[in-house]
Amino acid sequence: MAEETVFGKIVSGEIPVEILAETDRVIAFPDINPQAPVHVLVIPKATQYRNVAELAAGDPETLADMVAVAQRLADELADGEFRLIFNSGAGVGQTVFHVHAHVLAGDLKENALV
Ligand code: ADP
Repeated sequence: MAEETVFGKIVSGEIPVEILAETDRVIAFPDINPQAPVHVLVIPKATQYRNVAELAAGDPETLADMVAVAQRLADELADGEFRLIFNSGAGVGQTVFHVHAHVLAGDLKENALV
């Protein structure tokens, strides 16, 4: 079994967060260290997928749900436009190995890549 991550603890409720959106499959909450006017994380409730490729292969419907929630958040919190980032691998900056989408919106700096 994979080691529990901070996002596993958020899914289980052990670490409380402000839930901004929720479906059967995913939750969204503000990034603790925002890099843009809107910086929200969208994560699956399932804890076994370490990165977006594993999720796409194992549960594509949840990946589609993450994208739909990102659009909904951008509609609600900004002007409907957004940048969606998945870091996949420690070498490119991934620090939490529970797949998550960074949703960035608002007045973005060109290099806001988290
Ligand atoms: P990086 O840390 O380089 O951005 P990731 O792509 O793995 O790497 O992103 C992890 C994100 O999770 C970071 O943006 C970090 O600020 C955020 N984060 C870590 N712990 C929490 C938490 N308890 N609540 C909200 N966001 C968190």
